[in-house]
Amino acid sequence: MDVLFYIYLAVGGAIIGSFLNVVIYRLPRKESLVRPGSHCPHCGKPVRWYDNIPIISYTLLGGSCRQCGKPISLRYPFVEFLNGALYLAAGLKFGQEWALLPALFFISVLIVIFFIDLDHYIIPNVIVLPAAAIGLAAMLAIEPDRWLELTLAGVISAAFFFIIVMVMPRGMGMGDVKLVLMMGFFLGKPVLVALFVGFLTGALTGVTLMLAGVKGRKSQIPFGPFLAIGALIALFYGSWIIDKYTGTFGV
Ligand SMILES: [Zn+2]
Repeated sequence: MDVLFYIYLAVGGAIIGSFLNVVIYRLPRKESLVRPGSHCPHCGKPVRWYDNIPIISYTLLGGSCRQCGKPISLRYPFVEFLNGALYLAAGLKFGQEWALLPALFFISVLIVIFFIDLDHYIIPNVIVLPAAAIGLAAMLAIEPDRWLELTLAGVISAAFFFIIVMVMPRGMGMGDVKLVLMMGFFLGKPVLVALFVGFLTGALTGVTLMLAGVKGRKSQIPFGPFLAIGALIALFYGSWIIDKYTGTFGV
């Protein structure tokens, strides 16, 4: 039944979001993703299973640890909610089609990269490279006719970013090159929308922070999070935007 399908997606997405929190926190710190189980970052006590239910436990506990009472970051329930909400949105967009699977995978990878890059200024190879390979393989299996478009979208985006990194390395790195390679493989032509949104939001944020005096002109802002936002917008609206644009300007 359809309603059940959407409930599974939203709830499953929130549960997977709980695992994404673990990946975001532990992977850059080179900690095991499975052992030990979840524990409070303040007192180190293990989180009991009934205190580890996505979103619900956080709300019931009022956002603090049951043992030591110290506050727990709002980011944890937010990531769970975000992954659940985007899974639901993807279900509504793609329906019960094979294309839904790479879309869900793509969403979760983007969320992980968004927060790891924001925190640590890195985009781990161990995430972005396998994700690029899985993305290309899955998309080619589902839409073999788009092989040229998908391959070129990834390779040209990566080449473009590689040149930017070589010419002006500040604020962008090889991690971004691999990220746009992956994005092109998942998105195809709509990757253009992702890059455009990434540059636009990145530039606006940079200028805003500079004007507000928060960041000096020379301090670094990671670019990955903006590309991730662009990729999500392109996943949901990219084809539509490109159709509108080409329709309006006849290109
Ligand atoms: Zn605690």
